[in-house]
Amino acid sequence: MNLRLQQLIQNNIVQDETSECWLWTGQISNSGYGRMMIKNDNNQTQMESAQQISYRAYIGEITTGMLSRQTCHNRLCVNPAHLELFDPDDWRK
Ligand SMILES: [Zn+2]
Repeated sequence: MNLRLQQLIQNNIVQDETSECWLWTGQISNSGYGRMMIKNDNNQTQMESAQQISYRAYIGEITTGMLSRQTCHNRLCVNPAHLELFDPDDWRK
C-alpha cells in the first residue's frame, strides 16, 4: 500500500460503473497502455506503466522481472482488483 501512488492513480482515472474498470485518463503508450513519469524511492524520475503503478499502490511491490496485466483485458484499466502479476519469461515459452 502506498498512499502517494494511490492519490496519483485516483487523479488519473474515471470509474466505469458497468465493468468496474478504472479507466486511465493520463498519458497512453503506443501499445495502448496507460503510463506516467513517476519518482522512485531514490527521487529519480522514470516512466512506468499505469497498471504497474496501481499494483504497487494498492497491492504491493512487484518482484523484479514480474509484470502486471489486466484480467479484464482492458489495457487502460488500472483497477487493482482486475490486475494480476505474470512472469514475461513464462509468457514467451
Ligand atoms: Zn478492468
